[in-house]
Amino acid sequence: MGRKKLIAGNWKMNGSLAANAALMGELLAGIGQPACDVAVCVPAVYLAQVQLLLAGQGGIALGAQDVSQHESGAYTGDVSAAMLKELGARYVIVGHSERRQYQGETDAQVAVKAQRALAAGLTPIVCVGETLREREQGETESVVSRQLSAVIQLNGERLADLVVAYEPVWAIGTGRTATPEQAQTVHAALRALLAAADLQAAGVRILYGGSMNAGNAAELLAQPDIDGGLIGGASLKARDFLKIIETAS
Ligand code: PGA
Repeated sequence: MGRKKLIAGNWKMNGSLAANAALMGELLAGIGQPACDVAVCVPAVYLAQVQLLLAGQGGIALGAQDVSQHESGAYTGDVSAAMLKELGARYVIVGHSERRQYQGETDAQVAVKAQRALAAGLTPIVCVGETLREREQGETESVVSRQLSAVIQLNGERLADLVVAYEPVWAIGTGRTATPEQAQTVHAALRALLAAADLQAAGVRILYGGSMNAGNAAELLAQPDIDGGLIGGASLKARDFLKIIETAS
């Protein structure tokens, strides 16, 4: 299908000026010329710092972790898509399960965030995933389909510009990874949903996220519909993140 793999780090609410400089220094020193795309999604307050650290370096793109659903104006604390773009971001995560869980983000809000990102020229990384309870009740495919359908409905004409990330909630930060077969089954269902909406969707990258690490990346990335990874914990350790990038290359 010719989809170039994407390895995106999600630093979450971690880092400091000193720690970021050290991590980026190690990544840039070790990355070489990867055959996959690579991004780091950093806390908004560090975008400017990491943009400077990346200046003139081709191998790593910058990403943010969230974007406002509003364009501009009286939304205290929000960060707009245009602001992220101005700070050099190429990607932005939307609808991460931690935001759905702790900030109560709904499918409709996530769809609008994806729309704002696309309108500003950013690539949204749209996260979907089921909780353990939903999986145990056999609802995995209906949950992820509902989550992705909301985004498809609002952004139907621009689906080719999206990245999707399947992140089972029970696998995030738990050390419990979906098996390659479990992940592939869901990825294939998401692919079918995209294909039904838009023929261009065959080119959309669907990342897996949830305790992906240097040890399990190879078998996950070998699945036909797994086009990369959204990496949390392991993206904070240069050696592990570089190993995953190497595996995807
Ligand atoms: P994890 O996080 O790799 O630490 O499980 C992934 C994510 O939440 O994006």
